[in-house]
Amino acid sequence: MKSNYMKQEKMPSDILESNPLPTGRGSCCDDDDCPSDITESDPMMLDGLSKAVTAMLEGIGEDPQREGLLKTPERVAKSLRFLTKGYRQNPDELLRKAVFTEAYDEMVLVRDIDLFSMCEHHMLPFFGKAHVAYIPDGKIVGLSKLARVVDVFARRLQVQERLTQQIRDAIQKVLNPKGVAVVIEARHLCMVMRGVEKINSITTTSAMSGQFITSESTRGEFLRLIKP
Ligand SMILES: [Zn+2]
Repeated sequence: MKSNYMKQEKMPSDILESNPLPTGRGSCCDDDDCPSDITESDPMMLDGLSKAVTAMLEGIGEDPQREGLLKTPERVAKSLRFLTKGYRQNPDELLRKAVFTEAYDEMVLVRDIDLFSMCEHHMLPFFGKAHVAYIPDGKIVGLSKLARVVDVFARRLQVQERLTQQIRDAIQKVLNPKGVAVVIEARHLCMVMRGVEKINSITTTSAMSGQFITSESTRGEFLRLIKP
């Protein structure tokens, strides 16, 4: 069983405040500033991606030869490889590296995990927060790994619904806990910048298992704890 619901409210502005959008010329990308996984990027792959970006520039009526765009295909290619690096990471392996035997059997919750992903329909960003909880059954996992596993799935082309379930399923599979609960609240730029242009809409999805489904009080406690 799972529950999905939508709600609309003001977005906490802290994400945008701590990560201001680039303004003005040159504020975004010198290659050196750009986070990219150059070391793990296959040059052949980057070459193909760069060519595709050049074709996109032509497709929108731009001139790929003008000065400001000369290195854009290469930058976009590297950026895309970074933003989709989750395809080359294994969430099970990541979690297994930090599993410990422990008798603690109350809820473990990591809330407000920053999340950046891209919708698979428009390849535009969606971003927000994930809250991840589980109830151990003899095994716990390093807390940072819960945030990392969010990233592994977020750095792929996604729909928020599937992303939520994949995080739940990975934790359930590796830890086999008494229950897992994941809630994601995110803003989708494909809704904000185009289409319905609903600037303040937030999409909330949830995926739960075990005691979070069978016990109303456990689910209630979780939902209370993640309230802003
Ligand atoms: Zn979209």
